Amino acid sequence: MRPARALIDLQALRHNYRIAREITGAKTLAVIKADAYGHGAVRCAQALEPEADGFAVACIEEALELRAAGIHAPVLLLEGFFEADELALIVEHDFWCVVHSLWQLEAIENSTLSTPLTVWLKLDSGMHRVGLHPKDYQVAYQRLLASGKVAKVVLMSHFARADELHCQASTDQVAVFEAARRGLTAEVSLRNSPAVLGWPQVHSDWVRPGILLYGATPFEEANDMASRLHPVMTLESKVICVRELPAGEPIGYGAKFITPKPMRVGVVAMGYADGYPRQAPTGTPVLVAGQRSQLIGRVSMDMLCIDLTDVPQAGLGSTVELWGKNILASDVAAAADTIPYQIFCNLKRVPMLYSEG
Ligand SMILES: *Cc1c(COP(=O)(O)O)cnc(C)c1O
Repeated sequence: MRPARALIDLQALRHNYRIAREITGAKTLAVIKADAYGHGAVRCAQALEPEADGFAVACIEEALELRAAGIHAPVLLLEGFFEADELALIVEHDFWCVVHSLWQLEAIENSTLSTPLTVWLKLDSGMHRVGLHPKDYQVAYQRLLASGKVAKVVLMSHFARADELHCQASTDQVAVFEAARRGLTAEVSLRNSPAVLGWPQVHSDWVRPGILLYGATPFEEANDMASRLHPVMTLESKVICVRELPAGEPIGYGAKFITPKPMRVGVVAMGYADGYPRQAPTGTPVLVAGQRSQLIGRVSMDMLCIDLTDVPQAGLGSTVELWGKNILASDVAAAADTIPYQIFCNLKRVPMLYSEG
């Protein structure tokens, strides 16, 4: 059997969820969209359900998968419905629903629903992706209540730059949000992972952490709060071939690496078809036989090469951690000029093995 696999530590997932709750003292929706950022939404939801206040996903297809697996907790649809005919299913399965656009508000007004909805009314406070314009916000709120189709409204918005702790933009977004909701008594929800960890002053009855649940930092710089997180996923494989090469020999496609000296090279069963980033350059950290080393040459589809020259205890069959408890996914992501969100979501082909830690 090919030795590439992803180990998922569900105890670490619960630890991270508790950190979000402890820091904020708020009700905490675990964001498990995109198959829990590649970690397996059903297994993650099952592990968190006894303590989670609810879950958030991107669309009804993801939400239905949770219900089919027996998850009864609240599930918020972060983009609401894409077509009005989803409303019947939303009611049937008791999903919570974001309203981010006037067309969704009109669809609710024009619907016939057997039970009233829980709506999270989204304001565009400056990100300019989705969300109602501030001038429409209060009217939309009143229309939802007047429609008779809505039992409860939560007021929400989303930060564009909360990972930049010295940036004014989040403060400006909070000011826009506070002005738009003035006089409304409904609960509010603003904070995603970087805002949970880095913006304690922002009031949020409900918080919506995603990436932090999986133990990766949303920040580029070191952060004390983020250092309390436990990595959930360990992506590992094994050395399947060892080569001794003299100086001056190319390694891999494009001969992007030429041995500067005699080298011992390990070939690892892991490649970009598993989701390991092809952009990761020579020097990207790996752990082999318990010791840090580095990637060399170009990542291929099913294999990559690492330097074993200074790791004499490593050989055929040695375990290699590509990211996990020792090699942080955020460091691999930074080396590959991307973010941990993307390298987690890209994971495929490797079997996922779950443990309680
Ligand atoms: C994805 C998402 C989140 C979670 O973001 P993280 O940065 O992973 O914590 C929160 N809120 C909304 C609206 C989202 O789309």
